Amino acid sequence: MEELLQRKQRVMETIREACRRSGRDPGDVRVIAVTKYVDAETTRNVLDAGLEHIGESRAQDANVKHKILEGRGTWHFIGHLQRNKVKDIIGKFVYVHSLDRWSLAEEIDKRVKAAGVGPVSCFIQVNVSGEQTKFGISPRELEEFARETANLSGIDIAGLMTMAPVVEHPEEARPVFRELRRLRDHLLRLEIPRLRPVHLSMGMSQDYGVAVEEGATWVRLGSVLVGGGKRGG
Ligand SMILES: *Cc1c(COP(=O)(O)O)cnc(C)c1O
Repeated sequence: MEELLQRKQRVMETIREACRRSGRDPGDVRVIAVTKYVDAETTRNVLDAGLEHIGESRAQDANVKHKILEGRGTWHFIGHLQRNKVKDIIGKFVYVHSLDRWSLAEEIDKRVKAAGVGPVSCFIQVNVSGEQTKFGISPRELEEFARETANLSGIDIAGLMTMAPVVEHPEEARPVFRELRRLRDHLLRLEIPRLRPVHLSMGMSQDYGVAVEEGATWVRLGSVLVGGGKRGG
């Protein structure tokens, strides 16, 4: 717990510094503690440390934790989401950061309506870097995809999400973040009914300082904050 609080403090300081450098208000940057590497007890510590937003990438693991923790916190689904898992996460996850194809949008919309719950806040995942291994809508197809999903009443498009390539220096990820912001600004200027994608979900442990400088409103932090994962705990 002590270590967790120290990591939290360091993360908050890094975000404050990035905001200072870029003239932003730190209050506009929110942190998702990615707990996919750790168990339910560690996730409980994360909540006890005052981190309200929990990010999980596997529906099955997440549902087990969600149950143990009796739904405490605000849950964000951040990983690739299979269609047959959508019904399991509706009503538990307030946000889905990985809306990356039309069939998923349709399934979320359908399950939201069947469950009689409010719309799910979704981020359209954009494959800005164009890497073959990455999921996401291509920048070229984004506008049409956004127009179509805006018609689904079971979905609120909260913003755009991207994952930067794994690079040696965070600075190399900057063009990807900058491009996501440009795409967001473009969509906002179109003033499409029901489409206000104001948020930018970008920045992970390796690159969140740069992402905040480029306008991230949500950063998704696993190893640097929660521990576990490739950088150890
Ligand atoms: C795992 C994961 C993260 C967190 O990764 P870290 O490098 O540990 O901060 C963020 N976003 C997504 C989509 C992830 O799958």
